[in-house]
Amino acid sequence: TPGLSGEDLARMMNESALFAARKGKKLIDLSDIEDAKDKLMMGVERKSAVINDAEKKITAYHEAGHVLIAKMTEGSDPVHKVTIIPRGRAMGLTHYLPIEEKHSYSKTYIFSKLLHLFGGRVAEELIFNDITTGASNDIERATDIARKMVCEWGMSEDIGPIHYGVKNDNPFLGKELTRTSSISEEIGKKIDTAVQNIIFKALEKTREVLTENIETLHKIAEALLEKETLDGKQIDEILAMSVSAKNGKINGHDLINDI
Ligand code: ZN
Repeated sequence: TPGLSGEDLARMMNESALFAARKGKKLIDLSDIEDAKDKLMMGVERKSAVINDAEKKITAYHEAGHVLIAKMTEGSDPVHKVTIIPRGRAMGLTHYLPIEEKHSYSKTYIFSKLLHLFGGRVAEELIFNDITTGASNDIERATDIARKMVCEWGMSEDIGPIHYGVKNDNPFLGKELTRTSSISEEIGKKIDTAVQNIIFKALEKTREVLTENIETLHKIAEALLEKETLDGKQIDEILAMSVSAKNGKINGHDLINDI
């Protein structure tokens, strides 16, 4: 337990005793200390992360961007919870909960996933006229998905259903895609262009949607700044009051025209 003071350790043992008591045990064992440590570490992390108001505001708009896009695209996974309380390395989190386990994904679903991922970055850009490093993980995941659309899933009209690269098990959390040496320089360039096209189209559409619904974006971000965490029901209530959000979700098929 590096970094913990004597006082922290005393508190940890106290928590361990509570965990043991809850399980009706007479003695503390290692599993109780483990649980107590997790609780203490996470608590410490949350409290020690001093976040200034400006950073908090950026995080609120970033997460609100993710939420709004997810709510505005047809067939998206429902947003389970969104928070601006830092956890681990993340400043905030938007948690999606699929209704059912999916085994294959449509092009419209995957493309709308790119919009979700860019929702955070684009919200920052629109509201603050500046961008932060906070979107790096979103960008990484979006790039990975766009590459797979082109090289593995045959979802680019310019490239067609030809496999370029190595196989990968997890469509959304996969490893780095390494191209096979059989790809010519010309095809390599074509692939890069196709990936860029998909990314730029997703960005453009994300900007369009957030601009049209900017009032709702403000409402979600303000609610987040006030409450720090919103659940699916609270998000739905905000959207129900919004005129622009009611005016229509984005149809997935319109999204993937000419990609
Ligand atoms: Zn994000």
